Amino acid sequence: MAWGLAFFAGIYIALCGGNWLLTRYLLPALRAGHRIDAKPLRDGQIRYELSWSALSISIFGIGSILPWAFLHWGWARLAQDPGPLRIAMEMAVLLVWNDIHFYANHRLLHTKPLRRFHAQHHRSLVTTPFSTYSFHPLEAILLGNVILLPMLLHDFSFAALLSLPVMSLLLNNLGHSNYDFAPAAGHDHWLSASRRHHLHHIRYHGNYGFLFNFMDGWFRTRLPDEPMAPGRPAGA
Ligand SMILES: [Zn+2]
Ligand SMILES: [Zn+2]
Repeated sequence: MAWGLAFFAGIYIALCGGNWLLTRYLLPALRAGHRIDAKPLRDGQIRYELSWSALSISIFGIGSILPWAFLHWGWARLAQDPGPLRIAMEMAVLLVWNDIHFYANHRLLHTKPLRRFHAQHHRSLVTTPFSTYSFHPLEAILLGNVILLPMLLHDFSFAALLSLPVMSLLLNNLGHSNYDFAPAAGHDHWLSASRRHHLHHIRYHGNYGFLFNFMDGWFRTRLPDEPMAPGRPAGA
C-alpha cells in the first residue's frame, strides 16, 4: 500500500508538474500549439484540484492492494519471461481497454443517480493538468479498478500492468491541459483529445471518450468540433 501511494503520488507530481511546465512555458515559448481557453481559473481552483487529487491518490494507493491480492489468491498470474513484443502488444491492448473502461464509467457518472458525484470533477470548467485526479472518491474507485478485469482474463507481464496507470495518467493529463498541441490535426485525431475533452467540460453532454473517440462514434455521443482560436474564450 505504501508503495502504491508513493507510486501514484510520484507519477502525479512528475506528469502533472511536467505538463504544467510544458504547456505554460516551454511550448508557448517555442510557439508550438496554443492555449485553448483563455478564461481565468476560478479563485483557489488549483488548491481545490490538488486537495481532491491527494484524496484520489490515497484511494489509488490503498486500492493497489487488490491487484496484489489477486496474485496472492491465485486469481491472476504474471507472465513469465515476456519478450518485448509481447509487452508492447499487451500495452496496446490495455491502452484501448483504458478508453473503453473510461467511456463506460464516464457515461455512468453522467446518469442521474451518479451525476452529483461527478460534479466535483466538472467544477473545473477551464481545466488544468491538476484537474486530472480531481474527483469524488466514488469516481476514483470506479476509474481505479481498470486493471482488475484484464488481470482475471489474461496473464499480463508486470511491465505492461505497471505501464497502464502511467499511460492513463499521461493521456488524461494531456487531455486536461487546456492546450491545443496540434491545431492542424483533425477533430478525430488522437492529438486532438485535449480539444475534445475541453469541449466536454464546456458543453457537459457528449465527448465521453478520451484518447480515442471510437466509443463516442459508436454510441453517437460525439460533439461537433468547434474551432478553437488562440485566446478565444470557449463557450462564447
Ligand atoms: Zn464528465
Ligand atoms: Zn475531465
